Amino acid sequence: MAASKGAPDLYSSFLSSAPGAFIAKQAGLPQPEHLRRYKAGEPPLAGPIVIGGAGRLVEPLRALLSDYVTAQPHDDRYGALVFDATGISQVTELVGLFEFFQPVIRNLAPSARVVVLGTTPEETSGVDEQIAQRALEGFTRSVGKEVKRGATAQLVYVSPKAATGLSGVESTLRFLLSAKSAFVSGQVIRVGAADSVAPASWDKPLEGKVAVVTGAARGIGATIAEVLSRDGAHVVCADIPAAGAELSDTANKVGGTALALDVTAEDAAEKLAAHLLERHGGADIIVHNAGITRDKTLANMDEARWNMVIGVNLLAPQKITDHLVAKGALKEGGRVVDVSSIAGIAGNRGQTNYGTSKAGVIGLVQATAPVLAEKQITINAVAPGFIETAMTAAIPFATREAGRRMSSLLQGGQTVDVAELVAYFASPASNAVTGQIVRVCGQSLLGA
Ligand code: NAD
Repeated sequence: MAASKGAPDLYSSFLSSAPGAFIAKQAGLPQPEHLRRYKAGEPPLAGPIVIGGAGRLVEPLRALLSDYVTAQPHDDRYGALVFDATGISQVTELVGLFEFFQPVIRNLAPSARVVVLGTTPEETSGVDEQIAQRALEGFTRSVGKEVKRGATAQLVYVSPKAATGLSGVESTLRFLLSAKSAFVSGQVIRVGAADSVAPASWDKPLEGKVAVVTGAARGIGATIAEVLSRDGAHVVCADIPAAGAELSDTANKVGGTALALDVTAEDAAEKLAAHLLERHGGADIIVHNAGITRDKTLANMDEARWNMVIGVNLLAPQKITDHLVAKGALKEGGRVVDVSSIAGIAGNRGQTNYGTSKAGVIGLVQATAPVLAEKQITINAVAPGFIETAMTAAIPFATREAGRRMSSLLQGGQTVDVAELVAYFASPASNAVTGQIVRVCGQSLLGA
């Protein structure tokens, strides 16, 4: 941990940097809003939903959201504004966004949600429609930067081939229109054409499922294990042998199993497959969360640091998934969730090895999704931004503050925010969602 706190050169270079200037500009603004997070039994939203737009989805949307409290655009505080933009087939019709949102956008409750639904641009029927649908991204991302008090904005592209009942998009909407998506903002999620079956209970969607979480001894991985267990899964918690005591704590806490496993060991994939097949007849979910940093600028990097980071963060998830699928230890209809990072999107000084590995994870998800689809297995990645963990607590003060504040939500995320996104991907009802990279970063300015 190189930098000494408060060194004058560090401070002045911080102030002259883009993050420093940004924070200076923010000075005097109110404290970041306390974000509403999921609590069993509490309503998903802090107020009623207003639904607008005039596309192919608006009527099914009303039916789907019928158990939410709805409102007309005259009530004063909205929990969510949902707009069906699939009817927009040319640029001049984008004014419909303005007409719906402009009069009501001031009236959001704390932690409100803005969700726009569009048609996947690559699947539109003509040039004009593709342009207009692609334009929705700039609208939602900009709204995310303007709304205050913990509100978020997202865009959901739905395949035009999706059945009108919209069952395939329900898990996505339930996630976005809830306190579970507290730290996800400015994101675009593409939902495919497949229908889905709603789980018996949306509070326990993983009932009867077996999940593996690597790097589960502490940090984000331990919280992922807790959330998957909360949602009903039996969790096999894996971590390096040296993390044994912490790993047992996690496994005991979630009523799961502890498995000592270095994901880079030569026989890691075989060992995991054998464990899953013998004990459980296979797993339904694997979360490749284990990850390391070994930071040095490229000029000062040695090959061992390079290889270690690529090995844990990228090669291991690829090898393990391949082997589990080949052996049937990840069942048909399974879920693979990888953990990328915004460093894999934006790059980061001192992290050529880490940035490479995390960008590689994005490639892994995108390249593998069509292949795994043959077995109805989905693969998606979460890309965390600044999350409050032991890792980020060790970052020098100024850089840490910059990481926290350089986002629309003006704060760092909690490990549970990453875990909720993982749980959404892991849900059996998310079968129409694959090949997606979703950031959980409070709409960080990095790489946006
Ligand atoms: P952490 O260091 O607190 O936990 C990582 C866990 O992985 C540890 O328990 C560690 O023992 C385990 N692990 C390391 N090498 C392993 C190996 N070879 N085999 C099995 N387990 C191994 O880190 P974290 O902050 O909880 O990060 C979890 C994941 O999230 C990582 O992939 C990380 O790159 C990613 N991430 C974190 C942040 C953040 O802000 N904390 C941001 C972006 C991405």
